[in-house]
Amino acid sequence: MNVSKLVIKVGTSTLTAGTPRLNRRRMLELAQQMVALREQHREVVLVTSGAIAAGRERFGRFHRPLARTVPVKQMLAAVGQTHLMLAWEQVFDMFDVPVAQVLLTRADLSDRRRYLNARDTLNTILAHQTLPVINENDAVATDEIRVGDNDNLSALVANVVSADLLVILTDQDGLYTADPRQNPAATLIPEVAQLDDTIWNLAGASRSGQGVGGMTTKLQAADLATRSGITVVMANGARPNVIYDAAQGAPVGTRFLPAASNMESRKRWILSEKPLGAVRVDDGAVQALLEGKSLLPVGVREVIDEFERGEVIEIRDSAGREIAHGITRYNSADARRIAGRRSSEIAGILGYELASMLVHTDDMVVLHPVSLSLR
Ligand code: GLU
Repeated sequence: MNVSKLVIKVGTSTLTAGTPRLNRRRMLELAQQMVALREQHREVVLVTSGAIAAGRERFGRFHRPLARTVPVKQMLAAVGQTHLMLAWEQVFDMFDVPVAQVLLTRADLSDRRRYLNARDTLNTILAHQTLPVINENDAVATDEIRVGDNDNLSALVANVVSADLLVILTDQDGLYTADPRQNPAATLIPEVAQLDDTIWNLAGASRSGQGVGGMTTKLQAADLATRSGITVVMANGARPNVIYDAAQGAPVGTRFLPAASNMESRKRWILSEKPLGAVRVDDGAVQALLEGKSLLPVGVREVIDEFERGEVIEIRDSAGREIAHGITRYNSADARRIAGRRSSEIAGILGYELASMLVHTDDMVVLHPVSLSLR
């Protein structure tokens, strides 16, 4: 497989190497592998846990034992997050790789507009050769808006950035046929083609199960990601070159194969949404769409109905026939103002520019391209 964008999830047990402190040497080893992948022109996103652990480490030095209440954990996360980030920054600095901290909650990823904002930000960070270092915004996240565990968070992030591979690093070698700590006959499952009930039962997990960091959340993450066309590798973070090998397709840990191609699942999603508005475009734009290009504002003749940025709209030809469905980068009011204008004029007209196109080709499903071929 060809991996061009990957998300690496590093759990607390991997970061601390089983101790109560962040293990800089382990972090350096992991960073080194991520840097090697970047040098092969792959885009790398890091999802890191360890804020609360780092907070405990930091706080433990000066204070008496702390209560285990939610506000105290949130305080620890706030203290530890800067400490954690500093540690990552220091190791990546050795390779001259700039890092960018992004703290997310579920609310940032479930609302379409905020989802698009997060996506644009992350992609811009990547486009500037900077490595996004992501964690949940634990200090302020309440139960209602939290993802709650970084396994699921990493799957959501992999989805947001359209990664092709998610590597979940843990302190176990992967998924076993039974719990290896209790059953010496347990063997590692190298590949999971379908995440069905047999697999859920093996892990002793249930789809709705709770608990941070266990096999349940890892399988939930694998399920979520593979359904979006993303390959998932669950492996031991202590294994030398684990990330590097996973990205090269070498047999490491347990590999969960995608249930659908990335594009298929995206297209399915676009087609499942009811378009909230429409744009009528000229023949040149129709031709461009059929050739797989994006819809630029210059080709838009008319904006019909009201829609928000991030919603699915219909794209119609000059005769009003439905040509495509796609996710719009601008709301209807802005789309009206930039319709028929060149992309270079967008910033001047709106005072800001979110994208040079109205609908990106990756966010579009062209309907019946054959019957529509223009001559
Ligand atoms: N966000 C938490 C932290 O940084 C970790 C959550 C998890 O490990 O799943 O401490």
